[in-house]
Amino acid sequence: MDPVLLLLFFSSASALAATLGMIPLGGAGETPLRWIGWANALAAGLMLGNGMVLAEAGLSYSALEGAAGALVGIGFVYWTHQVSGTAELELSQLGSTPPEYGYKVLLVGALHAASEGVAMGVAMLHSVPLGVWIALTMGLHNIPEGTVLGAVLRSNNVSRGHTALLLVVTNVGQVFLAITVYAVVSAAPVLFPLAVGFAVGALIFLALAEQLPESYEQAGATGIALVSSIAMGIVVLLGGGAL
Ligand SMILES: [Zn+2]
Repeated sequence: MDPVLLLLFFSSASALAATLGMIPLGGAGETPLRWIGWANALAAGLMLGNGMVLAEAGLSYSALEGAAGALVGIGFVYWTHQVSGTAELELSQLGSTPPEYGYKVLLVGALHAASEGVAMGVAMLHSVPLGVWIALTMGLHNIPEGTVLGAVLRSNNVSRGHTALLLVVTNVGQVFLAITVYAVVSAAPVLFPLAVGFAVGALIFLALAEQLPESYEQAGATGIALVSSIAMGIVVLLGGGAL
């Protein structure tokens, strides 16, 4: 199948997968905080693992340009946190929160997903097996991220239908960026090392800055370290086969 169609199919399925994160949420009652911590740790571990797999792929092109791209990726995430006023925002406050908290959490989620779309696009440019692997694991990681965002929305009495819709809409940027990056970098291949570096920097920085700090407070250091390390290790071991 054409790589663009594959990318469209897998990135769309990935966005839809976020709704599966609502399964453990059950009713409108609050979700136990340690579940949120573990979901954050699982998502962060999968992102760190994919960042490492992509770093290995990028190193075979140009390490220097890849490193420059990684700095741009980190700078982009940092800058978006600053301008949106979400740098120090706790992303999984449960219970009734002010309306502006809800829109900021959705904004962070949308920007987060957009950077992950870049990772999907560059992976498919490297090879079809890597593109499919990154899209599949990103879809898997959208499930625990859906649990975290879904828990915040449900604890503010957002209906199940609206929560599911918001989870998909938040991840539409993944589809858009995956295909845009694939198209633009296909037309200008000189950008590839920078783009793969961007994805690596953004994925690792997002996991370290957004997800892991909160998860340690939610579920304790040992459990979080184990969940994120095991998830990362499995992705690195299996993802290496797709390179
Ligand atoms: Zn993520």
